Amino acid sequence: MSYNTDNIFAKILRGEIPCDKVYEDDYALAFNDISPQAPVHVLIIPKGAYISFDDFSSTASAEEMSGFYQAVQKVATQLGLQQNGYRVLSNMGADAHQEVPHYHLHLFAGCDLGRMVKAGLV
Ligand code: 5GP
Repeated sequence: MSYNTDNIFAKILRGEIPCDKVYEDDYALAFNDISPQAPVHVLIIPKGAYISFDDFSSTASAEEMSGFYQAVQKVATQLGLQQNGYRVLSNMGADAHQEVPHYHLHLFAGCDLGRMVKAGLV
């Protein structure tokens, strides 16, 4: 599977579609999810063209990876989430219901987030 440059997050990165920006640096862009599932629901995406967690983790440079994950922590700090905590999640592929084929992390916070996955899976 190759990277589809028409995906919605690629368009956001190119400025073709607006976003509610939270943070940006050389490695990452963070913006509020259009359909939030928690009081805080931010999406953090790398600037490079990576399809998924799997793609990013296996092909991005060490500089891109460290820059990206440092950006995630900066977003959490900027939003003041350290004290009460937060959840970082990435959906990868079909079973995880990944909708947008540009690697992204979801940052959830702002309340008790409950269980990690739906009950009754095992
Ligand atoms: P996934 O299922 O791929 O992990 O999550 C994709 C997320 O992107 C969903 O939570 C969805 O609400 C969000 N999303 C989809 N399209 C847009 C958009 O155009 N703008 C923003 N800000 N979020 C979007």
